Amino acid sequence: MSHSTQWVSALKGIIGETNVIQDPDQLKGYAVDGLAPRAVVSPGSVEEVSKLLAYAHSEKRTVVPRGNGTKMAAGGIPGKIDLILSMLRINRITEHDIPNLSLSVEAGITLLEVQKKLAGAGKGSFLPLDPPYTERATIGGIIAASTTTT
Ligand SMILES: Cc1cc2nc3c(=O)[nH]c(=O)nc-3n(C[C@H](O)[C@H](O)[C@H](O)COP(=O)(O)OP(=O)(O)OC[C@H]3O[C@@H](n4cnc5c(N)ncnc54)[C@H](O)[C@@H]3O)c2cc1C
Repeated sequence: MSHSTQWVSALKGIIGETNVIQDPDQLKGYAVDGLAPRAVVSPGSVEEVSKLLAYAHSEKRTVVPRGNGTKMAAGGIPGKIDLILSMLRINRITEHDIPNLSLSVEAGITLLEVQKKLAGAGKGSFLPLDPPYTERATIGGIIAASTTTT
């Protein structure tokens, strides 16, 4: 087994085979400005993210986080991409404290899901953000891109 195959196999050992993409045709769909990664990983917990990043660092692999991919082709082309770290499975609302107007969510949840949750509480609360692709943009991607309005 070549070293380039070995490190992808190690990723499967960390998060399970079904959560690692290495098929070249599928990888094209995760390209950043035309540059395809060597693998896509979809961790299911913060602990798995931590393990993946520690491993990628030990192997000196480049990692690009990804939300829903609505703005992955707008400049800032990386020199190389080994891994796309998809955050879509890390998408829970972890705390909603209505009296204190406090909501805690994980990075991969979409803004649409957050707005639905707030609307469902029936207190007229909403997050005053209006990025493009509101129904798909994730909270992690919005914060990373410092989105305020369209
Ligand atoms: C170049 C660019 C221009 C934009 N222009 C506008 C604009 O004019 N008006 C406006 O309202 N919004 C703008 N945005 C924000 C954008 O529309 C979305 O709000 C945001 O990108 C979220 O979408 P997404 O979840 O699909 O993220 P993606 O498209 O998947 O990712 C967007 C960026 O955020 C990073 N990222 C995603 N998730 C995470 C995470 N969990 N942790 C760390 N980094 C992460 C990605 O690496 C990538 O660089 C822009 C974003 C970018 C990148």
